[in-house]
Amino acid sequence: MNTNKTYRLVLLGAPGAGKGTQAERLTEKYSVPQISTGVILRAAIEAGTDLGKKVKELIENGKLVPDEDVVAIVGQRIAEKDCENGFILDGFPRTIPQAEALDRLLDENGTALDAVLSIEVKDEDIVTRMSGRRVCKKCGASYHVVYKRPKNGNLCDNCGTELVSREDDKVEVVMGRLEAYHKQTAPLKDYYAAKGLLVTVQGREELADTSAAVDEALKNL
Ligand code: AMP
Repeated sequence: MNTNKTYRLVLLGAPGAGKGTQAERLTEKYSVPQISTGVILRAAIEAGTDLGKKVKELIENGKLVPDEDVVAIVGQRIAEKDCENGFILDGFPRTIPQAEALDRLLDENGTALDAVLSIEVKDEDIVTRMSGRRVCKKCGASYHVVYKRPKNGNLCDNCGTELVSREDDKVEVVMGRLEAYHKQTAPLKDYYAAKGLLVTVQGREELADTSAAVDEALKNL
């Protein structure tokens, strides 16, 4: 790999906009790891760690977990060797203080973000999409019963584990998560636009169309 080229990317978008799916794809394309705070937090809940116990109720109710917890997770993760040439951050940052903390973390290492990609999907489409979402409890991969079907029944393509619906994908919780997105996360678009980092794509119904739009938007990286 060309070690001068870096891919330090943030994916923004409402819950269910397709961040995770695009992150999984981009991680292969650029050979850098995906860092999904949602996947890490759900794994902590599953494992019953102190962090998991602390955040379980917040997550199941569609509330954001405290900035300090997610900043600590990301700070540790991006310091690992495999993040040297970049990472795809999916679901972090979600608030302005998190974005500022990320800037500081990168600055301390003499690095910076290369781009921030926002995937735009209308709220009414989000609610429909979320009802068909399925995730793997073991490895965190995400699927959709219509748009991104697993190859083999209801089993994860990566590890064969049975897929489940997320507690926080219930309609009433999704509405709260959308509200949190609009209030706390959407302002990050202006934050990154002011730094000249923001690129925006429309999330489309067909995964292939969204992927093509993402590749086009990131082609000058
Ligand atoms: P996600 O899988 O990205 O939709 O995240 C699922 C849930 O985890 C969110 O609804 C939040 O409760 C929590 N979460 C994930 N990432 C963050 C973050 N960066 N800041 C605060 N809470 C988060």
